[in-house]
Amino acid sequence: MIKGFNGKILLIDLYNRTFKEEILSEDKIIKYLGGRGLAAEYYRQLIGKDIDPLSDKNKLIFMTGILTGIRVPSSTKFSCATKSPETGHYLCSNSGGLFGPYLKKAGYDGLIIEGKRGKPLYLIINDGRVTFIDAEDYWGLKVSDFESEIKKTSDIKNPSIMSIGPGAENGVVFSSIQVDGRSFGRAGAGAVMGSKLLKGIVTYGSKEIPVANMGKIKTKFKELSKKARESKISMTRYGTLQNLEVINALGFLPTRNFQDGVFEDASKIDAETMKKNYFIKNGACYNCSIACEQNCEVKEGKYKGTKIDPEYETVGLLGANCGISNFAAIMKANKLCDDYSLDTMSTGGIIALAMELYEGGIIDNSDTEGIQLNFGNDDALIEVIHKIAKKEGIGAILSQGMRGIIKAIPEAKKYAVHVKGLPLAAYDPRGVHGMGLTYGTSSRGACHNVGGYTISTELDSNKYDRFAFKGKGKLVKKLQDVRAYLDSTGVCTQARTVLGFTDNPEEVVLKDITGYDFSSTLMEIGARIYSLERMILVREGITRKDDYLPPRMEEPLGGKGASAGHAITKKNYDLMLDEYYREREWDENGIPTAECLSNLKINQP
Ligand code: SF4
Repeated sequence: MIKGFNGKILLIDLYNRTFKEEILSEDKIIKYLGGRGLAAEYYRQLIGKDIDPLSDKNKLIFMTGILTGIRVPSSTKFSCATKSPETGHYLCSNSGGLFGPYLKKAGYDGLIIEGKRGKPLYLIINDGRVTFIDAEDYWGLKVSDFESEIKKTSDIKNPSIMSIGPGAENGVVFSSIQVDGRSFGRAGAGAVMGSKLLKGIVTYGSKEIPVANMGKIKTKFKELSKKARESKISMTRYGTLQNLEVINALGFLPTRNFQDGVFEDASKIDAETMKKNYFIKNGACYNCSIACEQNCEVKEGKYKGTKIDPEYETVGLLGANCGISNFAAIMKANKLCDDYSLDTMSTGGIIALAMELYEGGIIDNSDTEGIQLNFGNDDALIEVIHKIAKKEGIGAILSQGMRGIIKAIPEAKKYAVHVKGLPLAAYDPRGVHGMGLTYGTSSRGACHNVGGYTISTELDSNKYDRFAFKGKGKLVKKLQDVRAYLDSTGVCTQARTVLGFTDNPEEVVLKDITGYDFSSTLMEIGARIYSLERMILVREGITRKDDYLPPRMEEPLGGKGASAGHAITKKNYDLMLDEYYREREWDENGIPTAECLSNLKINQP
């Protein structure tokens, strides 16, 4: 057996309240490595194309990466695959926290949850023992309250807690699963968990994970952790929020529902402001020396006592994109989203859309029950988040996500900034065109990570012109493949270069851990995962027609910033898309060809 894994998957049946173990075959590991790759393969086998995401037919598939939980820097990540209620098709997501490492140390490489029956419950997985516990008294609790209750009553010291809040219980289609302060944020895995009446999973593991050469790994860990820390000093100092100032200066910070690329109050919500007025200390995921989390607290005013770790995407979308310049209010909105288990990014994108509809007179006070939903109104932002989680008033429509809003208010289509139902991340692609293709071809709608994060590469002006279209198909494909195999290792992207996980992978630790030489096949594994995910999407009805950007991206970007006036017309987008499909060996309709499937050894479904 390839080391790094236990060779076992835990299958939980919530209908019968039973569990069993299944062997994880070496074959699957060689083809898909772990995490995201394995999750996609299990999804293809287990989740039918026509099922309703919130029915008992849907499953939650969690897979650890081959390095998750092992003494390697930032080896914290694990993946989730399920059918998304937000987009209506395949969802893959990735989270840090302690859960992945503990699940593996409990003896399981993955966890598949199916069925639904009766009353709310939560699960305990403790070193191989699985217990089903009644959670009726906990149903309706916010995530932080549930975590406190479990910590108060559990016999397990410092367990990992993965759970949902009332937003997910109520079926908000963009609700998240919260995991030890991190989350499976995008595309609504939380609502799937809520539909199964599963409040949470408490996990602890203390077993040794099999490793091929433990001596070498122990020696290397210190040195690699030091290198990782030294290579990411600014991440430790400012976290991801450091991006905000740069992206605003370059003119592609989404502002007021992507109407502008420059937020005039950016200095009130940037990393320096966070550091000066709110920062308390750094926090870190499992085995991570970078510690990019910025633990912050509001020290005065009406949001006093709010504690949260602000991230760039959240501040960009709940802040600038909603015209909000009150950092304390953004922190409060972030905290509410986490407690209700709502994706902060979709919440920001959707409230920004509602604000534009309100200012344009498409919805009015009679729709909002008197809430003045103007850009910049932080009280309205907070109030609407409560309404979304409870599905009350305007929140009942907004809780259905972009697809549901357009169905209810057809005029919204023109202003809705999403791909395949998923709101865009906090980078306007009119200022960095490769990101347009990233959003269009990502396996889960407009995601900046899964789709291949081109920003740093495109801003290297010696090699790339951020406003060019040619060459972006090749670039996006390459970055997507790196990301797909990286998400299958279980290592955080911040530590990837010190571990040699680039587009030209180097052997640094993988062979010492697994006993198998993967390095020459990693890019092929990434490409295989990406085309496998595309085959799943094609099975669910996705083709070229779904890979386009929203209408707003065809209009010149407004304002006077460094990207103002730029647009991505259909003609130029088609140039990128055609190049991309060619690079992937997909046909002109975006369907993997027989040659592609044979080259990547993907079995025809
Ligand atoms: S760099 Fe940040 S997100 Fe990545 S593992 Fe470390 S603390 Fe977690």
